[in-house]
Amino acid sequence: MTNTDRKILNMIDAALKRIQVEEYGVCANCQEEMQQKRLEAVPWAKHCISCQEKMEQDCCSNRKIPHPYKPRWGTHYETR
Ligand SMILES: [Zn+2]
Repeated sequence: MTNTDRKILNMIDAALKRIQVEEYGVCANCQEEMQQKRLEAVPWAKHCISCQEKMEQDCCSNRKIPHPYKPRWGTHYETR
């Protein structure tokens, strides 16, 4: 199983829990009811489309900040 699979499973799990507490289909951020289309496309969605888009933009802008002291790729950085 890949990390993405696990992530999706976690989200499905969280969605199932929200169904139990009758919060399914409500955006976790703005508390607005989610569009039916959104739920059909992504049944485990936590956020409405506008919040999701906002978060993805934040996420992408964060990624542009370089982390020079934390090389994640290339094991040649490790001398031990
Ligand atoms: Zn929202």
